Order: sequence, then structure tokens, then C-alpha cells
Amino acid sequence: MSSTIESDNKPVEISIVGGGIIGLVLTLGLIKRNITVKVYEQAKSLREIGAGVAFTANAIRCMGMINPGIVEALRAVATANGDADDPNDWLQWVDGYNQHTENPYDEKLLFKLYAGYRGFEGCHRAHFLDQLAKIVPKGVVEFNKRLDSISQTGSEDKMVLKFTDGTSAEADAVIGCDGIKSRVRQVILGNDNPASHPHYTHKFAYRGLIPMNKAVEVMGEYKARNQHMHVGPKAHVLHFPVAGQTLMNFVAFVTDPNDWAFEKTMVAPATRVEVQRDFANFGPTVRDITSLLPDTIDKWAIFDSFDYPAPYYNKGRVCLAGDAAHASSPHHGAGAGIGVEDALCLSTVMELVVEACQGNKTSKSQALSLAFEAFNAVRRERSQWLVNSSRSICEVYEWADPVTGNDSEKCFKEIEWRSHKIWNFDIEGMLKDTTADYEKRLDASYSKN
Ligand SMILES: Cc1cc2nc3c(=O)[nH]c(=O)nc-3n(C[C@H](O)[C@H](O)[C@H](O)COP(=O)(O)OP(=O)(O)OC[C@H]3O[C@@H](n4cnc5c(N)ncnc54)[C@H](O)[C@@H]3O)c2cc1C
Repeated sequence: MSSTIESDNKPVEISIVGGGIIGLVLTLGLIKRNITVKVYEQAKSLREIGAGVAFTANAIRCMGMINPGIVEALRAVATANGDADDPNDWLQWVDGYNQHTENPYDEKLLFKLYAGYRGFEGCHRAHFLDQLAKIVPKGVVEFNKRLDSISQTGSEDKMVLKFTDGTSAEADAVIGCDGIKSRVRQVILGNDNPASHPHYTHKFAYRGLIPMNKAVEVMGEYKARNQHMHVGPKAHVLHFPVAGQTLMNFVAFVTDPNDWAFEKTMVAPATRVEVQRDFANFGPTVRDITSLLPDTIDKWAIFDSFDYPAPYYNKGRVCLAGDAAHASSPHHGAGAGIGVEDALCLSTVMELVVEACQGNKTSKSQALSLAFEAFNAVRRERSQWLVNSSRSICEVYEWADPVTGNDSEKCFKEIEWRSHKIWNFDIEGMLKDTTADYEKRLDASYSKN
């Protein structure tokens, strides 16, 4: 550490593009570390579309390390699986297709997997986002700001964000948390790069929320109030309780040999009749659940970044996190969770940037670029693995994997090791690696100066 570089002594200012789950979680991480942050969100208010979301153990631990307020926000709206006084910490897979006993409603339990204490709790997405919004200080999020471009042309070496309404803003660095169709990713990789755009996985999902009392009537108390995955050939149904057990979150995945017909949007209208048609060959339990859906329902195309993964997550002082970096299909129920890990990694390395700048060890712009390089080096492998594994595990659920077929024991082994890799993540190891990688880059930059 030889030379000392003049820093401008002004606080580091970070802009986040996108106020979804990851944008807000990262914001709360930066605020907790006294870093100045501004969020630019294209919508006119914070809102989540979609139905339920569940966070696995790794994500909840990271939330606590980012900002304990996030865990409180989650706990305020999370719904215990089964009995709130004695939560069911097991995930269950049942045969939704074949009849195994005289009673056709008696779905065979294929296997179950222990998720850890309160290791699986679902919530209504909008409720969680509302809770997060409550703890983000007023004025931090600016609405109706749809990012168009980013350039390095600002005063004092700042990055300039231009929005489609003609306005602009400046910051020392920009983090794109703008989701699967990220504009920031296009800025980093170029519009023509196929990795700038997500691709269809040839699966879509019918999603909806079913009143719990209706679900209980049809499925019985236990099945309705506890998570179940009903598997079968080329399709499967997942449900879990949300909203304090007043609603059952329903997702039904279907394999689609065709291209997605709705070019401009990933969500299209569908009908209950279509769902019933797609699950007509499943057992009566699954068919009965589909009968509870309203006449019209949303159908979500599952896109991801599997075919063309982003080759890097940052360019200089512009970086990607969450789905913007590594959009995954949802079959591990961990896409947002892995984004939360990103947020912890970034919050931690941003704190190191501030320390380096305060000590006049380096220029702000260099410290920020190196921090994003460290983030890229540490986070790419695991987050891209999730994208790949999520594709593979769906094939296992749907008896389409050539190795596991419909052999329950083989399917279970595959699901078990992959789930454990996600849930039992070495978070402290990630932070150690991030710090070491960043400091190594910083040291190397000193010797060049
Ligand atoms: C069916 C389904 C079920 C899922 N279930 C789970 C689950 O149970 N558990 C789990 O961990 N994950 C789950 N996921 C994945 C999870 O939903 C995503 O990983 C997560 O929502 C990504 O959050 P994000 O903040 O990165 O992006 P988003 O939630 O997409 O947020 C992006 C934000 O950026 C804004 N934005 C976009 N473009 C611009 C722009 N140009 N300028 C300004 N703002 C912009 C958007 O308006 C939005 O607010 C599921 C996904 C699907 C499809």
C-alpha cells in the first residue's frame, strides 16, 4: 500500500435502478451502512405483481445480516407452513398423477425434505414489499423514472442516468436491480448481445390465490394448509399458504413445446378451462384444486438467462444484481433468495469502498470499479449455477430427466443435494472471499499507481 490518492471527501452516492424486492433490500443494506442511496423506479408506486413468494434459510440469514429490519418486515407478513404454533418445516412431494390405493384422492407421498426451523414460509409479494417500503426513508425512492441510458459524463467524474421522461440524475455508481428485462444489462452488454435479453424456457405457469376456506373444503385441512408439490409428467402444481393462512398460493407449471406467443409481455390472460384442460390427466386432487380457480387467471411465461448468461455483471462503475444479473426459472423457489445474497455481498463491499475513500487510499471511482469486479468474481458462479440447476430440477420434478425418470429415490437424492447447496450456503465464506478479493484488487491498484 504505497501511494495515497486524493479523494474528494464527499460521501459515496449510489443509484439503484428498480425498486423491486432486491432493489429495496439492497437499499436497506446501504442505508444501514450510512451510504447515500437513491432508487429510481419506473412505476408510479412500489408494487409487486404475481402472487406468493417464499424465502429459504440462506436468504433469511442474509436478510438479517443486511439489515435486521428486513427480517422483521418478512416475519410481519410471512405465513407459517401448517400450524403457526408448531410450523411444519418439511417440504413434501406427492404423486399428483398416478393412483396408488383404492381411494383416488390418496396421493402417494413420494418424499419429504427438512427445510430447517421455519425454513419455508410464504408471503404475499405485495405485502412484503409494503413492509419493506415502510422502513425505507421518505424521498429515497423516486417514481416514474424509467432508465434509458447511463454515461460517464457527469460533473466530478459522476455517472449520468438519463430517464425516458427527459430528466437525468448523477451518482458515483449505478446498480441495476431492474429485473429480468434489465435496461442496465442492455447498457452494460449492448442491445445486440443475446445475453441482454431473457429467453423462453418452454414452460409457463398459471398463478393465482385461492381463498383458504374453499381450499380446505375441497382438499381437507392438512393438505390445504401445508405446502405440497404435486408432480407428474411434463407438469406440476405447487401450493403453499400465504396471508396468515387466509389464501392458498397456487402455481401450476406446464411444459410448452411452442414459442411464447405474446411478444411484448410475459404475462397473458388465461382461463380456468385452459388449466383444467392441461391437468385433465392428473389425479382428482389436482383436478379439484384447479376447479377452485376463478374463471380468468394469469399465465406467466417462464423466461430465464440460461441460454445466454451474462458474461460479466459489471462494467466499470455500473453493476447488476438480482434478476437483472441472473434471471432464473423459479423451480428452486430461490431466485429472489439468491438476489438477497447479492445484496449482502454488495452492501459489504460498498462499506469497504467508503473506508478506502475515507482513508484517502484510492479514488472513489477506482474503489467502486474494483468493488464491482470483486462482486462479479465472487457471485457469478453460484448465481449462474442456480439458473442451470433450476432448469434441471424442473425436469426431475416432471419425470423428464433421463437419469432419475420417475424413480422416487433417485429424484429425491437429486433434489436433496441441490436444495442443500442453496439452503446451507456458506455466507461468512462469501463475505470473506469478497473482502479478500476486493483488497487484493485494491493492493494491485496501489502498486500500479
Ligand atoms: C412463478 C414465479 C415464482 C417465484 N417464486 C419464488 C420464490 O418462491 N422464492 C424466490 O426466492 N424467488 C421466486 N421467484 C423469483 C423472484 O420472483 C425473482 O427472483 C425476484 O422477484 C427478482 O427481484 P428483482 O428485484 O431482481 O426484480 P423485479 O422484482 O423484477 O423488480 C425489478 C424492478 O425494476 C423496475 N424496473 C424495470 N426496468 C426499469 C427501468 N428501465 N427503470 C426503472 N425501473 C425499472 C420494475 O418496475 C421493478 O419494480 C419466482 C419467480 C416466478 C416467475
